[in-house]
Amino acid sequence: MKSALITGITGQDGHHLTKLLLSKGYEVHGLVNDRLDPRLQKFKKRFPEAKIVSGDLTDFSSLLEAVEKVQPDEVYNLGALTFVGLSFKQPELTANVTGLGTLRLLEAIRKIGREDTTRFYQASSSEMFGKVRETPQTELTPFHPRSPYGVAKTFAHYTCVNYREAYNMHVSCGILFNHEGEYRGHEFVTRKITSNVAMIKTGKQNRFSLGDLTPQRDWGYAGDYVEAMWLMLQQKNPDDYVIATGKTHSVGDFVEEALRAAGLEEKIEDYVDFDEQMIRPSEVDLLVGDPQKAKKVLGWVPKVNFKDLVKLMVDHDLELESGMN
Ligand code: GDP
Repeated sequence: MKSALITGITGQDGHHLTKLLLSKGYEVHGLVNDRLDPRLQKFKKRFPEAKIVSGDLTDFSSLLEAVEKVQPDEVYNLGALTFVGLSFKQPELTANVTGLGTLRLLEAIRKIGREDTTRFYQASSSEMFGKVRETPQTELTPFHPRSPYGVAKTFAHYTCVNYREAYNMHVSCGILFNHEGEYRGHEFVTRKITSNVAMIKTGKQNRFSLGDLTPQRDWGYAGDYVEAMWLMLQQKNPDDYVIATGKTHSVGDFVEEALRAAGLEEKIEDYVDFDEQMIRPSEVDLLVGDPQKAKKVLGWVPKVNFKDLVKLMVDHDLELESGMN
């Protein structure tokens, strides 16, 4: 039986990846820093088979202990402070967890002598492209991050490339564009929209507020994206891959599609107010990824399109709001 250690297991991608790896017969271990975390209680209910290991990406000795205990065949480093907006308020913590945390984890694997046997997946991010140099973005597009989150992810990405080259470790980075779904946190705009639309539909409120409706994103389904992570670690050689749909939509498009999915009149202004607080000090440009390499090498293609993604999230939130879930 293969064993996997996942950091950030209680987050969105951790949920999807745990489901996938358990279905493939893996022994799944999750690194968790706070055993009282309410998200962990929910996670344990959903996946009682998954094992929990104590540790924190900011604490090297705890990482050493965790990898020593689990002796993982595969490590998926999903742990990070993932909310771009918040990273402007906590830049140092972001750099420590998201950037240095990756280095600590790789170093722990090396220190216990598993550099030849443990395969490593790094959750790199489209936020590393930030002020984009070309569109669409590929594995060869230069990085220009526009937030403390993007900067920390870029440090982590190059650290992974360095460990691959310097120590010949099987380290692969998935440069993932935005990916959403039923486990998405409510601080992200997609989930904020679908949960609020569900509340409007069920008569619990009339309106909600959002920031800028014009930014565009390449939004895919998280359930599809974790398959790409797993595929990367099954290859003979490690490498970096852009994982995206190649299609882009604005925040406004998302609102309209969500209203449509809930069967509401599609006029944004009837439901949405402007919230200045949501405007960021700097925004990334148009992010749209070119997933050709992933298709060619991994045989990966996204299955869920934009419309189906919005519908899936709205349906899920409607069920929650109607108390059926
Ligand atoms: P990100 O791509 O990781 O930053 O994902 P988010 O879901 O947090 O934000 C996506 C885009 O939606 C960004 O350009 C935000 O500025 C924009 N946006 C507009 N209104 C809101 C809002 O109310 N909340 C969030 N989170 N983002 C918003």
